[in-house]
Amino acid sequence: MGSLDSVAKTVLHRRYLRQDKEGNVVETPDEMFHRVAANLAAAESQFGGDVETTEAQFYEVMSNLDFLPNSPTLMNAGTELQQLAACFVLPIEDSIESIFTAVKQTALIHQSGGGTGFSFSNLRPEGDVVLKTGGVASGPVSFMKVFDTATEQIKQGGRRRGANMSVLDITHPDIEEFITIKAEEDVLRNFNLSVATGEAFWDAYESEETYDIVNPRTGETVRQADPDAMLSQTAEMAWETGDPGILFLDTINEQNPISELGKIEATNPCGEVPELPYEACILGSINLGQHTDNGDVDWEKLRTTVHLAVRFLDNAIEMSEFPVPEIEEMVTKTRRLGLGVMGFHDMLVDLRIPYYSEDAVEFAEELMGFIHDEAWKASKQLANERDPFPAWENSSYEEPVRNVTTTTIAPTGTISLIAGSSASIEPIYSVVYTKQVMGGLEVVNDRFVDIAKKREFYSADLVEKLHGRTTIQDVEAVPDDVKRLFQTAHDVPADHHLKVQAAFQRHVDNAVSKTVNLPQSASVDDIKEIFLSARDLGLKGVTVFRSGAKPEQVLGESPLK
Ligand code: ADP
Repeated sequence: MGSLDSVAKTVLHRRYLRQDKEGNVVETPDEMFHRVAANLAAAESQFGGDVETTEAQFYEVMSNLDFLPNSPTLMNAGTELQQLAACFVLPIEDSIESIFTAVKQTALIHQSGGGTGFSFSNLRPEGDVVLKTGGVASGPVSFMKVFDTATEQIKQGGRRRGANMSVLDITHPDIEEFITIKAEEDVLRNFNLSVATGEAFWDAYESEETYDIVNPRTGETVRQADPDAMLSQTAEMAWETGDPGILFLDTINEQNPISELGKIEATNPCGEVPELPYEACILGSINLGQHTDNGDVDWEKLRTTVHLAVRFLDNAIEMSEFPVPEIEEMVTKTRRLGLGVMGFHDMLVDLRIPYYSEDAVEFAEELMGFIHDEAWKASKQLANERDPFPAWENSSYEEPVRNVTTTTIAPTGTISLIAGSSASIEPIYSVVYTKQVMGGLEVVNDRFVDIAKKREFYSADLVEKLHGRTTIQDVEAVPDDVKRLFQTAHDVPADHHLKVQAAFQRHVDNAVSKTVNLPQSASVDDIKEIFLSARDLGLKGVTVFRSGAKPEQVLGESPLK
């Protein structure tokens, strides 16, 4: 088994390992990996596969920390819950019946450890008529508060509070209220917000014309809005609170291989999986820092891990149980996978490539291109062994494949703590810092320590000096080339964050969850520029976070943020 550090052990102990009725932990991390491996390998028997060998391989790849599935799989596989997916999207239609059905379904999903996303765009606006009662409608934002309260009350198996994404179309009459709602204190704490934009809006923006605000109930245009002013208002709120982000729904739908099945209107909470209503996605992430050898990428090992990971996730779909029958049906139809990576910055350090460099962007393309190609080879192979996904005949794919998508970049907020890796494709935040678990545990970047010892500038004093710093660029004791390798999220300018996101997005079927970090001094216009660049770069969505903005609270209960 790979070595778990003290943060990993603490996180596992608190939230992942099985507990008895009294709340005593009754399994070890090693037993957890065995439980998950055995459960997912069991799916092989349905396809004439080798259960025993597969179980051993799944155990190895997880316990060596080469690959980890999303949290619900680690927590629930082989237990009564058996719900293995992190990412859900639910439909909400313009009726009380539909809204409260979705509230109930959300509660069930949160209880089982998943996160939910919704589009509220179909709801009639505030003040519109309610035919049955002759009353007035309260509008999307007021109903979002109902979802928020429900979320607040449901602790996922006592482990963490749920998370939601709310999407509202920029043409909805209540869009201004939606954009500015988080200016109020303590509102929608369990929600991330995204403004959905499409071609009509961007065309109007380009030609400096107004665009239509439309009542979704009647289809009537109720007024005109200025696209530039709307974007400025969104940027202003994102400057202040980090919310809302922007979704590019036209790009998302142009790249949807199953457009015959419907239109995608929303994503899961962190934005990495645009999904049709009732779809769910199981994520898994390859720990890149475990796939280097002597300063090079170990491509053969990486290939093996990708193929095994695709099989792992496809088996997870087979084994997962879902709390809502419509979800079970959709998941079986599309078999959406979200294989991604963590430890990208770690890998760059091993390769001696600074994160903030053109080389890093080029390398990101090469790396994700390779993972993407291998993931699709694996999905084709599975389609031969098993069957193509049932909706394949209605898809744009020419060859049979097992899954509608294979790749995604997730935030890996908690699983990167278990793996002891840098999160996702993000630059590190700090070289030495205190993680707020169990009264505070010190985390020191292993790679930094190794280099410091080899280059003979290591000392306990230095580690103390670096503690809690969000940059080490002004520390004289560290040689310049090493400083460059350990540039933090704060040292990397916004346009470079975007370039890295775009490089990955070009080789990812789903989307990329990435935060574009900005210094406290950034202006509202800087944020607007980022929105525009994100559009130009062909991204599916963008989220910014300005240092010092009101902290995002949606994942506050998880040990990650
Ligand atoms: P992890 O590291 O726990 O596997 P990530 O940070 O990669 O999870 O997040 C992946 C997805 O998992 C999110 O986009 C969201 O859909 C879901 N998720 C994360 N945290 C929570 C939470 N506290 N409650 C519900 N869902 C969550």
